[in-house]
Amino acid sequence: MPQPSELSIISLPAMQELVRSLGFPAFRAQQILDWRNKGMLDPLNMPNVPKNVRQAVADVVGKPPLTLVKREYSRDGTRKYLFALREGGHVETVMIPERKRITLCISSQVGCVLDCPFCFTGRQKFERNLSAEEIVAQLWMVTADLLQEPVGHSIADHPTHIVYMGMGEPLANEEGLHGSLAFFLAEDELHISRRRITVSTSGLLPQITRLGNLYPVNLAISLHAANNAKRDVLVPINKKHPLEELRHVLDAYPLPEQRYITLEYVMLAGVNDQNEDLKALVHFVRAKREFVNLIHFNPHPGSDYTATPKDAMDEFATRLISRGMRATVRRSRGDDIMAACGQLNALMNQENTDGDNEDA
Ligand code: SF4
Repeated sequence: MPQPSELSIISLPAMQELVRSLGFPAFRAQQILDWRNKGMLDPLNMPNVPKNVRQAVADVVGKPPLTLVKREYSRDGTRKYLFALREGGHVETVMIPERKRITLCISSQVGCVLDCPFCFTGRQKFERNLSAEEIVAQLWMVTADLLQEPVGHSIADHPTHIVYMGMGEPLANEEGLHGSLAFFLAEDELHISRRRITVSTSGLLPQITRLGNLYPVNLAISLHAANNAKRDVLVPINKKHPLEELRHVLDAYPLPEQRYITLEYVMLAGVNDQNEDLKALVHFVRAKREFVNLIHFNPHPGSDYTATPKDAMDEFATRLISRGMRATVRRSRGDDIMAACGQLNALMNQENTDGDNEDA
């Protein structure tokens, strides 16, 4: 349950209780949450709220949990944000606009507990889990940014879809994940139904089952190889939860209607893009419930891997489709701003080490 001090995730009844307990009329709660829903997380800045109310509420809720440190713009409209956390550490959030929707890619941990060798976040030290408030606050910070500076080519003016694909393994932080999902799904004003939320995991099996029982949102699995020997290397959690066990858990996952489980497959030249890899995929995937999302590898400094060329990816997709699979090639967004998760944070750490920090 959210604490009264957590403005990002407080409900209207809880806020009414809070303002009443401070000696103010309950309608002030709606005013405060109207501002919160526009992304304002500091009560002291809420214009039509009397000063004494602002101050009293600010004394309880404290400073906003996130502060914008850096924002980068991609040519394709993608924005990447680096936030400093009030309780320590930095996280990244990516906003991906399309014509009718705006997808928010949010982080769930500072660093990651897992160690996938192709992933930049995995190379950074795990510091801690984010609280539900810190996860939800990413939505409010981007909402405020979009109000100030809308995206020209999108008719959406606020985040419409949420993917837990930023820094961290969300299912290794069930408290933060479940708390934030409970909030997103309960807040009618957000219009973010479970069909518009996707949790991406490397494959923590008991946690997938619990997620399906409690919050059956869309599911994405970092598959990246469909045979155990290769997946043991690319997604080391596979050693604990091999593909046969993953298969059982995916078959039992309660999907939203007309939805598919996404199998993420980052294509690495000479590593998982060979004939044998295609055959293994065809054998593993249940075409009726799952589709394969082929992802162009976004190289990062020091990476041992190179990307499969675009035409070879298209060919791989065509061959999957000709064998009855559903497959798409994901257009890479934000390449020019290093939008692969963890890259901005690493750059920030480097800059801090160099003593060359840049404020937004
Ligand atoms: S791919 Fe995901 S689970 Fe693996 S290290 Fe990167 S952030 Fe963590």
